[in-house]
Amino acid sequence: MPLDNGQHILIGAYTQTLGLLQRLGLHLPDHLHAMPLDLRFADGSGLATPDWAQRWPAPLDTVAAIACARGWNWRDRAALLAAAARWRRLGFACPPGESVAGLCAGLPQRVWQDLIEPLCVAALNTPAQQASAQVFLTVLRDALLGAGHPPWRASQLLLPRTCLGDLLPLAAVRWLSQQGAELHLGQRALGLERSAHGAWRLHSASAQYEADRVILACPAHEAARLLRTLPEAPAQWVAQAAALQHTAIGTVYVAGWLRQPWPSAHPMLALRSSGSAAPAQFAFRRDWLQAQPTAALAGRADLASGHPAHSGPAANNSAASAPPPPEPGAWAELALVASACSTDKATLQAAVLDQARQALGLHGEQVRQTVIEKRATFACTPGLQRPSAAIAPGLWAAGDYLQGPYPATLEAAVRSGLEAAERCAG
Ligand SMILES: Cc1cc2nc3c(=O)[nH]c(=O)nc-3n(C[C@H](O)[C@H](O)[C@H](O)COP(=O)(O)OP(=O)(O)OC[C@H]3O[C@@H](n4cnc5c(N)ncnc54)[C@H](O)[C@@H]3O)c2cc1C
Repeated sequence: MPLDNGQHILIGAYTQTLGLLQRLGLHLPDHLHAMPLDLRFADGSGLATPDWAQRWPAPLDTVAAIACARGWNWRDRAALLAAAARWRRLGFACPPGESVAGLCAGLPQRVWQDLIEPLCVAALNTPAQQASAQVFLTVLRDALLGAGHPPWRASQLLLPRTCLGDLLPLAAVRWLSQQGAELHLGQRALGLERSAHGAWRLHSASAQYEADRVILACPAHEAARLLRTLPEAPAQWVAQAAALQHTAIGTVYVAGWLRQPWPSAHPMLALRSSGSAAPAQFAFRRDWLQAQPTAALAGRADLASGHPAHSGPAANNSAASAPPPPEPGAWAELALVASACSTDKATLQAAVLDQARQALGLHGEQVRQTVIEKRATFACTPGLQRPSAAIAPGLWAAGDYLQGPYPATLEAAVRSGLEAAERCAG
């Protein structure tokens, strides 16, 4: 099974990302496993949209989820409903310096532990005490009340069946080749300067490129490095990009037997998390996700070969996009994810395996790989100043770290890329 640098989750509200994947020729249900909003733990407690409310208009589906949250008493439910109504009345806006912990200060412990903390760290990759309340509210607004990319609702969780490298970049490379683009892959930009006649000159170890318009679609620290010696680059832009702090995400990929049946109808489950002793917040069944329908496998083969992804009749077989859950108590391939991870690899792995043994009855395990992405995302703190897309005449940046309403996500990156391309072409 191919491994990613970490398990990714998309949601139906990622309209630009999903639209882009579709324009690249992918039949999305083949590549993404859709499930309703479900943040329940192994003991069944927590928030999930009940089956009977899944087609209710937003926000009634969320109200139903809150009203039926398992393990919550009426005070927990009433407090969250009141807070949500208040946030909505205020237009999902708050002072820029407020933290998620400050925003949710009056909420009961149960709501905090079961919902706010895991949701905040999953969406912003920043602990609630340090996370921006405004960005959190924006994510809540768009996920719970916004428009989803058809056929999905904004709040639906979409889990990739393949690793992301196979999904977006390969499809993009194929599409660009079809449009006649000249691609020079696998080359690191080492320097950037102005040529004598005013064009931008970019060089790698083996080549030089000149262009009137350039988009730097690399991480913030790399863009800052490329610009630091350039007299035309605004010092403030470079300073903001270089000053961004980052938070890590750790993922333990492990296979093993489960002593008890998988306690969810979906391949994703919340884990009770607590500092470095229990750092993982979510578990994913990769064997379930990757038990792919024929159409999806055909799509991947087509991607690799450069042929159009969906030629066969199986591509429209909606039953094929929902493989049945694996046998209970079976051998499982898991991805255990620790967002805002602050430990080293060995400590993380030991603690996460312990969590999985206790919560899921994992035994006889074989660790496939443990990955810690140290600069997974920027720390999404209150009032953070992020660099703008425009750097200098004819020079733009694209990436998830630029000014925008969202935390560092695929959607933020895609929106930024589209904006930079539009400005560059305009
Ligand atoms: C473990 C993990 C889990 C995540 N989970 C989620 C999730 O569940 N949902 C979600 O929405 N987001 C998630 N994210 C965040 C998401 O992956 C990022 O927001 C997104 O990939 C950022 O895209 P980008 O284009 O801005 O940057 P990148 O994807 O980092 O792309 C930058 C590219 O620039 C290249 N590059 C760097 N330096 C140079 C150079 N000098 N010359 C040329 N090229 C260069 C790099 O090789 C890279 O390909 C996760 C991230 C990680 C690490």
